[in-house]
Amino acid sequence: ATTFDEFTKLVVTKSRGGSGGPKLVFTPIQLNVNKRDITFANQLFINNEFVDASDTSRVLRTINPNDESVICSVQSATKGDVDRAVKAANDAFESGEWPLMNARDRGKLMFRLADLMEQHKEELATIESIDSGAVYTLAIKTHIDSKLSVCRSTRGSGAVYTLAIKTHIGMSIDTWRYFAGWCDKIQGSTIPINNARPNRNLSFTKKEPIGVCGIITPWNYPLMMVSWKMAACLAAGNTVVLKPAQVSPLTALKLAELSVYAGFPPGVINILPGTGSVCGQAIADHPLVRKLGFTGSTPIGQTIMKSCAESNMKRVSLELGGKSPLIIFNDADLDRAVRHAMGAVFFNKGENCIAAGRLFVEQSIHDQFVSRVLEETKKIKIGDPLDRSTSHGPQNHRAHLEKLVEYAQIGVKEGAKLVYGGAQVDRPGLFFTPTIFTAVTDDMYIAREESFGPIMIVSTFPDGDVDGVLRRANATEFGLASGVFTRDISKALYVTEKVNAGTCFVNCYNKTDVAAPFGGFKQSGFGKDLGQEALNEYLKTKTITIEY
Ligand code: NDP
Repeated sequence: ATTFDEFTKLVVTKSRGGSGGPKLVFTPIQLNVNKRDITFANQLFINNEFVDASDTSRVLRTINPNDESVICSVQSATKGDVDRAVKAANDAFESGEWPLMNARDRGKLMFRLADLMEQHKEELATIESIDSGAVYTLAIKTHIDSKLSVCRSTRGSGAVYTLAIKTHIGMSIDTWRYFAGWCDKIQGSTIPINNARPNRNLSFTKKEPIGVCGIITPWNYPLMMVSWKMAACLAAGNTVVLKPAQVSPLTALKLAELSVYAGFPPGVINILPGTGSVCGQAIADHPLVRKLGFTGSTPIGQTIMKSCAESNMKRVSLELGGKSPLIIFNDADLDRAVRHAMGAVFFNKGENCIAAGRLFVEQSIHDQFVSRVLEETKKIKIGDPLDRSTSHGPQNHRAHLEKLVEYAQIGVKEGAKLVYGGAQVDRPGLFFTPTIFTAVTDDMYIAREESFGPIMIVSTFPDGDVDGVLRRANATEFGLASGVFTRDISKALYVTEKVNAGTCFVNCYNKTDVAAPFGGFKQSGFGKDLGQEALNEYLKTKTITIEY
């Protein structure tokens, strides 16, 4: 038992003649990192067991982006393995313990999983940190404004809130608890319909689970993306086959392990590390999968939607890329605007789907804004994400880093003004300097395309031209998020009305919450994660009509 709570439970259970709870036999990878022992599986998780892939000759190498060392190799699922997992999920949905379970008991399992995640949160945060470069401790606040930080560290007062723990792991735990609470509140409605006189009629709807759901997640917030989708999917009563991103699969495998200890029946949760082209594609194509939830790039979203249509018309929800506009008016609180704009771009090293892809700053404050941002950006501490003083960690993987270097080079070639950064940091590991471009015009590549990295793209607009800047902000095929900074409430509300994006932040940014629906418009996809609306993505409505 790795925690005191688990240890005492085990002692009590064994002293009463119990077996000590569900057993899971596997050989974990064991490491000592971040001054703690961590363990996790590196196999496929099917039917509550860790098993080898049917082809063990092709494994995925998981790399620590801090120094490019190999953490371990992970099994890679084949098409046959996907079939095995889908059949297990289908059996669990059709005939196992899961469909017989009361909704409230389903909620209890999810609460129990959240409690186990809480007990293991430092371990989960450490795994996330070495696997994806997530900064373990928060520090973005210290060099921006300790009073009004994007995230807060309260070291010394007992609690230390850390980025990996608070955002990556903390929000994952909150998500499981939030959806656990929904399990016994999924309701239909009673609908007045015309009576077939002289008889009378009654019509009502029931919300039912869809069946086996496929979920495919990206690498930027590995555990959080898994949790956002899987918690809603299970709360609705479905079973799941999930493929995490091949470059960052480890926390998903740790979650699989904890789900057994939480008591989930076999086949309800199946997690298949593997490649998108083989494992992901096989999930999208599988005839027994009835719904697919996806977060990732727009081009792969298009491929998936096509596969879902052609295979069996499975339902699909897509959370795709973004190029979110952030408009800063000259009447904004400048300190606040600078602080949040930096968070909007640099948070999680820019690997953030709602990152502000483009800043529009009103002409009269442009120079002052840029010089303030520059001053603060120079203070950002780049380093090992496990180091408690680091605020900016390495990019997730090499191909992504190389894409960012190329992106910055394109910006320079196009004639944008490179004010800061623009290159890989001269040290081992996959570090990219927080970067600032100004004088960016609408036709440039960097004004149109998402970087998914710590690159601030600043354009300006004439004072007072609210409609003009809105036209430019909306002139994109993306529509994930947006933001506005102004002290004028009417102007702020006007922007929220006119901006064509799924989320609009006013005088804040990145303020997502498990209870607030999240998802995009246009080519940023459709369907919501989080909030009550996310449940509907994983439910079907049945209408029942009675004549009496
Ligand atoms: P992808 O869209 O390529 O990958 C997302 C997930 O889809 C991964 O698990 C991937 O597998 C899988 N996948 C790839 N091909 C297929 C397929 N044919 N069928 C089913 N699944 C598939 O995104 P990337 O991770 O490569 O990132 C590229 C860009 O996408 C980023 O630079 C960013 O612009 C955007 N992005 C947006 C995110 C968001 O939150 N909206 C998140 C991540 C990326 P595999 O592990 O093999 O790659």
